Amino acid sequence: MRRNRNLFTPERRGGTGRILRTFGAVVILGTAIGLGVYFLFGKGFFTSNKPVVVDNTQPTVTETVPVVSPEDLVRNGNHIVKADEYAYSTKDVRDWMTGKVPYSGDKLVFLTFDDGPNPESTGKILDVLKEEGVPGTFFLIGTSVEKAGSGEVINRILEEGSSVALHTYSHVYEKLYPNNTGDPEFIQDEMVKLIDAIRTATGKAEFDSKVLRYPGGHMSWKGMDKVDEVIGGMGIEYVDWNAMNGDSEPSSRRPKDAQAMADFVTSSLNYTKIKSVVVVLMHDATNKQLTPESLPMIIAEFKEQGYKFGILK
Ligand SMILES: [Zn+2]
Repeated sequence: MRRNRNLFTPERRGGTGRILRTFGAVVILGTAIGLGVYFLFGKGFFTSNKPVVVDNTQPTVTETVPVVSPEDLVRNGNHIVKADEYAYSTKDVRDWMTGKVPYSGDKLVFLTFDDGPNPESTGKILDVLKEEGVPGTFFLIGTSVEKAGSGEVINRILEEGSSVALHTYSHVYEKLYPNNTGDPEFIQDEMVKLIDAIRTATGKAEFDSKVLRYPGGHMSWKGMDKVDEVIGGMGIEYVDWNAMNGDSEPSSRRPKDAQAMADFVTSSLNYTKIKSVVVVLMHDATNKQLTPESLPMIIAEFKEQGYKFGILK
């Protein structure tokens, strides 16, 4: 009985009192938050679904957001606005290409060119891409970016709808990977220097690139988890390849004419399980003249197979 009385009399009243006090506190607090939001953000915060009524008594706010043209560089990007529709996240492409994440969309190919810009070859590659109406991704080396005339050709890459990616500042294996082991701090520093060099050469202070191909390929070196972590902290993602035109193979295996180079791409695909997302490794360098020569055939083959051409961002 004593237990019942405790349950239904004093305790119960005490309980109701607490509930009322809590309720009161919630109402007061809620009102205070509501008023706070009202004064901080204004009436519009509460009436966002209603049509906006222009208050003509207030001075007009000056438009500070510039009109974006399709030719403009994507803000802090490595490609122009009109190229954004075929620009793919590097991490997504890497995950699809390696089978880490299943891919079921349109067949995609990414034509990638390492080691530029190059006064003899970049222009030729761009001519072919333009002629064929497809884009590519150019992985640049800082020391080449700093050579005279590079800014012009890098701007052409951007203007013609291709993207600009990172291939380190120095491209010196011994410095990047002492004892075949990636040096995180050195590589991080190389990223900063390379991006700076591209900004200076192009005159585009807003340029940024989050796309990296490690010289020699991520697959070739030890200790890369640490490097990836540091690079990842900068928002940069790396990508290797799953097809190649053989332009950097040892001379015994290197294709000897344009047709052989195009065939090399096709046969390299025999070694990859994932064929719906293809990243083709090619080079933009002085001694690789077969690359622009064979490019129309390589592009024709992918077009015939129904691939769409993307760039990496
Ligand atoms: Zn390279």
